Amino acid sequence: MDRAKEISRVTVVGGIVNLLLVGLKFVAGLAGRSSAMIADAVHSLSDFITDVVVLVFVGISAKPQDSSHDYGHGKFETIATFFIGLALAAAAVGIVVSAATKLAGWLQGEDIPAPGTLALWAALISIIVKEILFQYTSRKGKKLESQALIANAWHHRSDALSSIGAAIGIGGAIILSNRWTVLDPLASIVVGAMLVKVAWDLLGPAIGELTDKSLPEDAENEILNIIGSEPGVSQPHNLRTRRIGNRVAIEVHVRMDGSQTLAQAHESASHIEKQLKERFGADSHVTIHMEPVKEA
Ligand SMILES: [Zn+2]
Ligand SMILES: [Zn+2]
Repeated sequence: MDRAKEISRVTVVGGIVNLLLVGLKFVAGLAGRSSAMIADAVHSLSDFITDVVVLVFVGISAKPQDSSHDYGHGKFETIATFFIGLALAAAAVGIVVSAATKLAGWLQGEDIPAPGTLALWAALISIIVKEILFQYTSRKGKKLESQALIANAWHHRSDALSSIGAAIGIGGAIILSNRWTVLDPLASIVVGAMLVKVAWDLLGPAIGELTDKSLPEDAENEILNIIGSEPGVSQPHNLRTRRIGNRVAIEVHVRMDGSQTLAQAHESASHIEKQLKERFGADSHVTIHMEPVKEA
């Protein structure tokens, strides 16, 4: 099986497990009257939608450039990520507001019913399943040397953490009962706060890319070093960098001896392009503008 297929198969496995967890958690959260479990269910739902977007939009993004999209289709994935992040942020705020309302009622003496054991079981099952998924995905990620899979593996482990938060709240509410049933909405606030973080981790880079944010400073320094190590090429300036989906676009001006032939100058520029593509990916867009060295 080729690498891309195997990577998407691991993503499909993760997506199916997430979908099963969505069903289990919503049923357990509603039947077990647990805000924490419903919050955890929303988290799993967002994970499942993210998996679908990754599978669908990575395909679209991988489409080569055509006459209507000269820079390829990478930003379709970015736009999808932006909307997932936005929807997730809205869901997270909804979870926190609903739990805060319960808390406010509780402070005024209203009772919060103890969650059912079904909610606790769902949380425990989710922790175990997510840990197995972490082990499986990170093993595959290392074998296939896929950063995306390794990142996804760690997401599974952070999902387990979200379920651990829910389990502590639900378990505490059941075991201690009485006034301690407040632990359930408290846990749902913790799970909601973790979701805000997940949402921000999606939104931040997506907004950066949509607004043509430059590559980090150390990446730009690396580019300047690669150019600087090319014999006969000097004074790189007007460096412009940005991300387009999972590609990188680099534009830069360089200076060379003006008396050499165009063929020689072109060879130097091509060599720089080759090295930049080796470093930043074969699909990178590299444009080098050449100027003769200014006499002092
Ligand atoms: Zn998650
Ligand atoms: Zn210039």
